Amino acid sequence: MNPVYVDLDQTLIHPTKDRIYPRPGAAEFLRRLAGHGEVFILSHAMLSHVEEALPALGVGAEYISGVFTREDLQPVIDQLVLRRTDIQPLFPPGVIFDDQPIGSSYHLIKSTALGIGDDLWIQVPAYNRVNPNDTALKAAYKKFHRLFVGADA
Ligand SMILES: [Mg+2]
Repeated sequence: MNPVYVDLDQTLIHPTKDRIYPRPGAAEFLRRLAGHGEVFILSHAMLSHVEEALPALGVGAEYISGVFTREDLQPVIDQLVLRRTDIQPLFPPGVIFDDQPIGSSYHLIKSTALGIGDDLWIQVPAYNRVNPNDTALKAAYKKFHRLFVGADA
């Protein structure tokens, strides 16, 4: 099974200065994904931020096999700055869920690090804690299931 990658900020959580707000359904989303492969956080944020934020996911954090952060992505970022065209992926390919759109700088960095095409990029509308009825992760899982598992969830 291929790994599955999930962005952190605005995808699973909304971090503010005072606290971290988990997105509604984040734990259930991670639990369901873990049934399809190892789940990794792939974040452009620093490890210190990711470690601080993970407990906000509650039991959802138990379904995360590992985290990749800015520190891990730096070799790809450096090569992209140099406009290298032969950049080797850092991690095994897999589907990624991210609030950033195709064509954004984070998309370029992360899809290069995974060596994936745009077909494996599932954009999730950015989460903001002022929307308590957010159901985007449910919809994102449905899309994943339809595209990569081969049936409606
Ligand atoms: Mg994000």
